[in-house]
Amino acid sequence: MAQTAKPKRQNRTLTVDCHDQATYSQLLGNGKAFIEFVLAFILSIGFQLHHKSTCDGGGSLTRHSHYARVRLGGLTIWRIQCTRCRAVFTVLPQFVLRYRCMSPEVARQALIATHGGLSLEWCATICHISPMALYRLICALGQHSLVSVLLKCHLPLPAYILADEKHSKCLTACVYLPTIVSSRVIWHLGYSECKSAVAFTESYGQFQRAALAHEPSYRVQGALIDGFDSTTKSMRMLFPGARLGYCLRHALNKLPDKLVGLAAPVRQKLRSKFHALLHRCRQRKSLRVVALGQRLRRFVDHITATEGEEHGERVRSWMEDKKSGWYAVLEDPKMPAMSTLLDQAHNAMDRKLFAMKGFHHAGGSQAAFLSGLAHLYNLIPYQRRAKNAGLCGVEVAGGRVPTSDWMLNLQILTSGGYRYAPEPPHH
Ligand SMILES: [Zn+2]
Repeated sequence: MAQTAKPKRQNRTLTVDCHDQATYSQLLGNGKAFIEFVLAFILSIGFQLHHKSTCDGGGSLTRHSHYARVRLGGLTIWRIQCTRCRAVFTVLPQFVLRYRCMSPEVARQALIATHGGLSLEWCATICHISPMALYRLICALGQHSLVSVLLKCHLPLPAYILADEKHSKCLTACVYLPTIVSSRVIWHLGYSECKSAVAFTESYGQFQRAALAHEPSYRVQGALIDGFDSTTKSMRMLFPGARLGYCLRHALNKLPDKLVGLAAPVRQKLRSKFHALLHRCRQRKSLRVVALGQRLRRFVDHITATEGEEHGERVRSWMEDKKSGWYAVLEDPKMPAMSTLLDQAHNAMDRKLFAMKGFHHAGGSQAAFLSGLAHLYNLIPYQRRAKNAGLCGVEVAGGRVPTSDWMLNLQILTSGGYRYAPEPPHH
């Protein structure tokens, strides 16, 4: 089964919002007006054209050729060319999807149903398309890397990340989905049939390579992980200077397991005490690690005194094992302390993958399919959460999307002809 996405062909498609079909037909009658319209649109969304690497973009644009799209009822599509580097850009009006007869409106309905957790088969049925057409559409979106799409949304590469692997099933085999999340966006959603450090390093390495290609000086400052050996090793390998912290909420939830045999109310009381202890240490402005060390020792003494030697010893050795990860969280105030946002992303993926037989499609590209789902996760606005209703994950994380329409954003951001325009320096 294919584990990696097929190599991208260099596509220089530009999805342009031409309002409606009548406006588009009018523009087709006037080459100069057409090019001006396209350039104005690119300016309005804050992007640049993706010229060849040798080109400074200083040339002018001419109409290159046009061709009729038979499948789309003879719709004319124009190409424009840079006079300097000869790069050719295919201009697609927003009411057409690249290489697909499915209309964007049908795709919009099917994708939002998919994102909501409906099975591919049901999404296809209600939208009158084939499940395979929907599967291929999601894979096509996933050909575009999450990193490049998120950078086009003006998000900085994340200095602090949450990394963990979701366990899933593919046919009958257990598979792992190495994931990197920062704030409300997924930066990496990989696919691995093996849980070795080598396999995870390969998967997380895809994120690292994409990030370094954009910014050679990129360094991860800190990563919150669950302490699983393969994850720890792959993070150390890929991001040598990064702090590796363990989630404090997981610590809280694990404590009762370390107190087996004690009555539930007693375990609950100790858990609350541990919660207060961690909370107070996080509130401190200085000497947080020292404070945590002292409080953990006192906490263990308390357990030994009240519940006996055996419990005290079990909790002590557990803490001995984990405390370096908790210290790492407290050492740097910017370190994420809890993996809640990653758990949420995983739960959202779980609902989809559970319902999706398409995921098990033999010969399909799981990597591309997963990346496609991650794009939907990042770009479809929240429906329910009152606080962020109407915003998508990218916006909640502080990024900017080209337009107020998520489907149009998805089309634009996965168009290969656009390049991210860096912010002018601030004064
Ligand atoms: Zn050029």
